[in-house]
Amino acid sequence: MTAAPDRPARLLLEGRRALVTGASSGIGLAVARELARAGAAVAVNYHSKAEPAEALAREIRDAGGQAVALGGDVSSEEGAVGLVEGTVSALGGIDLLVANSGIQKDAAVAEMSLKDWEAVIGVNLTGQFLCCREAIRAFRRGPGRPAGARGTIVCMSSVHEVIPWAGHVNYAASKGGIHMMMQTLAQEVAPDRIRVNAVAPGAIRTPINRDAWETEEALERLLRLIPYGRIGEPEDVARAVAWLSSDEADYVTGTTLFVDGGMSLYPGFVGNG
Ligand code: NAD
Repeated sequence: MTAAPDRPARLLLEGRRALVTGASSGIGLAVARELARAGAAVAVNYHSKAEPAEALAREIRDAGGQAVALGGDVSSEEGAVGLVEGTVSALGGIDLLVANSGIQKDAAVAEMSLKDWEAVIGVNLTGQFLCCREAIRAFRRGPGRPAGARGTIVCMSSVHEVIPWAGHVNYAASKGGIHMMMQTLAQEVAPDRIRVNAVAPGAIRTPINRDAWETEEALERLLRLIPYGRIGEPEDVARAVAWLSSDEADYVTGTTLFVDGGMSLYPGFVGNG
């Protein structure tokens, strides 16, 4: 694993207030920690497991930062509204959203139930839509910042927004949907100085894909799909999200940043195909 680059002397997200959904594990947890390290106050959303989110919020506060753990289901309108309202009341406002929550319920198409199709679309796509809509409403209500974006959104996509994935049609469709939702929102709200982008991770070592890296044999199979030769870590994604959310990326909107070790570069063609 490569070392993280040195932190810049100036904190990238000083004074910003962030909501990170699905932050009790994996990528979301690393993102919430990284945003706090970059100076943001953070609302750490959890769905069913409060303890890891509470523990991260405590860790951030103990290090001198500001954080709160907020329970809520992003796939329900009430849940998404409550999360953005909860962030505004706990942190005094909201400047950035990381719509990260996601699930997988895999099956071959002939065996896929409507319930599992709807569950994945409900969390991954409808959940991101609801959180984005509520964040945009809140950004517009706020006084804005003297410079830089009034608000920023990072949608957690996947390499499967472009790579078809047999046996995962609900998941791939949700991520393809996120791509067009993100670009459409970016176009629509840019005149309000709101930036919307996506990060598309490849294979990252988290609970969602444990089967793909837990055994040596599975990891070896996985590495054949990654030209860069290692599995990604949640922190690889977290650093990209922090940068995209910051004023360093002020002219970047409507873009997907792939953080995938080259997984989307047709790895079958490595070595001349
Ligand atoms: P994870 O299972 O650790 O995280 C998913 C999070 O979403 C969990 O914290 C879970 O509690 C939360 N969540 C689920 N349903 C929710 C709901 N209804 N409301 C609120 N939160 C809910 O897995 P992860 O890998 O950290 O996944 C995070 C995101 O990254 C997902 O959108 C996933 O699709 C995406 N992603 C992951 C990988 C990877 O290789 N791990 C690759 C590409 C994209």
